[in-house]
Amino acid sequence: METRLDRYKGARETKINKLRELIDQSENIVFLGGAGVSTESGIPDFRSGDGIYNQESGLAYRAVDVISHSFFMEHPEEFYDFYRRKLLYPDAKPNKAHKALARLERQGKLMAIITQNIDKLHQDAGSKNTIELHGSVFRNHCMDCGKKFKLDYILEHTGVPHCDRCGGIIRPDITLYEENLEHDKVDAAIKALKKCDLLIIGGTSLTVYPAATFVQFIKHNRVVIINKSSTYLDLSAMLTIHDSIGAVLDEAIPKRRTKEQLEAARKLKAKREAAALRAQKRLEKKEKEGK
Ligand SMILES: [Zn+2]
Repeated sequence: METRLDRYKGARETKINKLRELIDQSENIVFLGGAGVSTESGIPDFRSGDGIYNQESGLAYRAVDVISHSFFMEHPEEFYDFYRRKLLYPDAKPNKAHKALARLERQGKLMAIITQNIDKLHQDAGSKNTIELHGSVFRNHCMDCGKKFKLDYILEHTGVPHCDRCGGIIRPDITLYEENLEHDKVDAAIKALKKCDLLIIGGTSLTVYPAATFVQFIKHNRVVIINKSSTYLDLSAMLTIHDSIGAVLDEAIPKRRTKEQLEAARKLKAKREAAALRAQKRLEKKEKEGK
């Protein structure tokens, strides 16, 4: 007799097979990810039940207010206290989701990862083209002289870290509330989205700007959503899977490239090289004509 569990399992299998099929048919995949991608690495997200916003901040302020530009400028001491306790996870390791996506990039299918995370776990897993929309805690700079500092420097010091050259306050290269995202990152993200033939959205409830607005750049309906809770796009997406992103991606993305995939990757590479060559020639022609 079929039980509810069997039916659930069956539905899950069907969905993962569908995802496998979509990946197989695509050559230019973009992944757009949020905090849910890193929770399986032990990094809490912001908005869920036990997320950072719902935890006790340990301060007289709400967590959501602490990570703002004005708060940082007025109370750097409290900011750093919270930051060290809640936003730094230097020992976190990539999980199945990060690893599967790195695999997909190596297989020549994933063109870009657009992430809202600041933990560098995609790069640690081996991904090359990662657009860090909100920056990274691994990059820091002096607000007075611009000298760059690694995360180690922040970890080695207590309280507000000061520049060893000029004494200025060091800040992480992350986007705080009230601050604008870096233009070149947003541009790169939009460019990748416009070109993709499959968009996989994972670990985000799609409520955070600008990720929430990114989907408008997709001119097709080849959108897959993998998230534990529902999002406003669930109904319009081609496929929605409410499950662990690590498990789903690990199952859907093949461990090794098949002969066909290798051949497809080779063709794609040749196509890209030819296009780059044509662009180069056009440029040279233009320069000649200009003279
Ligand atoms: Zn300095």
